[in-house]
Amino acid sequence: MQLDRRAGNPSSTSPAHNAVRRRRLQVRFQTQKTLDCGEPTGRAMDIGARAGAHCVNLSSVVTTKTDLKSLLREDLSARLAKWGEPVYRADQILRWVYQQQAESFDQMTNLSAELRQRLSEQFELNSVRALKTRNATDTTEKFLFQLHDHALIETVLIPATPGLTTSSDRHTVCVSTQVGCAYGCKFCASGLEGVKRNLTAAEIVDQVVHTQKLSGERVSNIVIMGMGEPLANYDNLIRALRIINAPWALGIGARKITVSTVGLVLRIKQLADEPMQIRLAVSLHGATDEVRDRIMPVNKKYPLKELLAACDYYVNTRKRMMTFEYILIDGVNDSLEQAHKLGAIANRLHAKVNLIPYNPVEGLPWKRPERSRCKMFQHTLKSHGITATLRIEKGTDINAACGQLRLRHEAEARA
Ligand code: SAH
Repeated sequence: MQLDRRAGNPSSTSPAHNAVRRRRLQVRFQTQKTLDCGEPTGRAMDIGARAGAHCVNLSSVVTTKTDLKSLLREDLSARLAKWGEPVYRADQILRWVYQQQAESFDQMTNLSAELRQRLSEQFELNSVRALKTRNATDTTEKFLFQLHDHALIETVLIPATPGLTTSSDRHTVCVSTQVGCAYGCKFCASGLEGVKRNLTAAEIVDQVVHTQKLSGERVSNIVIMGMGEPLANYDNLIRALRIINAPWALGIGARKITVSTVGLVLRIKQLADEPMQIRLAVSLHGATDEVRDRIMPVNKKYPLKELLAACDYYVNTRKRMMTFEYILIDGVNDSLEQAHKLGAIANRLHAKVNLIPYNPVEGLPWKRPERSRCKMFQHTLKSHGITATLRIEKGTDINAACGQLRLRHEAEARA
């Protein structure tokens, strides 16, 4: 009974209804299980990942309402046409959702009371709820959002630093795509407790909408580098990016959107074939299998040779530069030998390298190298003709590395 509470249908207990409900739960349970197998393509994932379906733990509350922010314009128009509404109605509603950032249907004052009531019965308008925000001294802002099943995710707003870039009014949002992460990179806080579930498209889109609303800033760039492996939640990711990109929604250009992956080879190729010109970043963190194996278990499934072949495919199909992210971890991957090997790889692929001094995670043994060592690594890459940036850490005082704020919040809640 509790399961249907949000659907507003507490009296429906017929055997047929129960059978449907059991089936729905089975589908969701299968969906949970497929999360661990790398690049799920099965039907269970397709069903669980479709627009509007909250894919949640069995113990949590399930909604049968449709998430409005999972819908493309044509989906909403089709729903409204069935209700006999005129074609312009969808645009009116979308303006309220994305331009006015309305948080309730009651705010949509140019719609009739009857329509607002019907919309609120059938659609969920908000998919995330802000629990906490934390400001770092460098004005990076981190948001902890709660989802309908009480799961927690993180989103970070990173303003460009005046003086470092030409456009100081640029605001980048770092978005999460899963609750937790299945890939267990040894240095990362996000994967410490495994993966709970994929985010729906609405939950991905709503991070951007709420970040804009809470900060009062217009977001210009998106990096999919928050919690989770975006390419393991492929269908929801692409749907969300289509909405983020659409002029009727957030209108953020595809070239201003970067997807970062641990290195899922088949999905990198699929991304290369997408009509949207999304940018690709690959978390390399090691220039040989030996180093990568030590810190990234995914390398056993997709060793460097296969990963770099997928990068080749991306670069040749897209005719665009890609980026390698490379965390510098003291004594693990920061030798000059690794720098030379990385230089050769990046050179062949005409890739940029983004060096990130490791952000220590409580309870993990890894350390950040001395600044001079990071500089030396960068210098070596540059000697190969590579564009290599050494990230000035932003937000370290607010636990801005992946998954850290969420872990801290959960630890505080347990204490
Ligand atoms: N799963 C995707 C995106 C999420 S992680 C990926 O692996 O690319 C975004 C980036 O932050 C990745 O490059 C990841 O390796 C890096 N990262 C994770 N923990 C970090 C830490 N403690 N310090 C610095 N970077 C970290």
